[in-house]
Amino acid sequence: MTESESVPISGGCLCGAIRWEADLPPRASVLCHCDTCRRATGAGAVGWLVFDIAVFRFVRGEPQTYHTDTQADRTFCSTCGTPLTYHHSADRPGDMDVTSGSADAPDDRPPTKDIFVEEKLTWTTRAEGPHSRCDTNNTREIAQ
Ligand SMILES: [Zn+2]
Ligand SMILES: [Zn+2]
Repeated sequence: MTESESVPISGGCLCGAIRWEADLPPRASVLCHCDTCRRATGAGAVGWLVFDIAVFRFVRGEPQTYHTDTQADRTFCSTCGTPLTYHHSADRPGDMDVTSGSADAPDDRPPTKDIFVEEKLTWTTRAEGPHSRCDTNNTREIAQ
């Protein structure tokens, strides 16, 4: 991330009914390989931007919430189905994870870390080596 990065960071769903903004850059950018993200999105792996919950908000529309059996809330657009957020109020109350792919500039903050790699599919690929375009000082370990 660069000093000149503009905020708010924005994004939204495919149909445009739901829009979101965050006032500060994410604390982390990760690529999750877990089965539940895979099922929830239909994608082989899912990029997440981890924002402080206090700086994140929906600015248009109201997403649908699916409360999972692991006590997480996953939101998505009820019209077009785009997965939008993951929040676990017991485990990580201060974090709001937002799908990187729903960001308006999804290539600005590439993942610096892969998580749940033990559940990674054989056919998902990832560039080797450090992802030097991100400032890793700004990231932190997250437990999911
Ligand atoms: Zn939509
Ligand atoms: Zn996951």
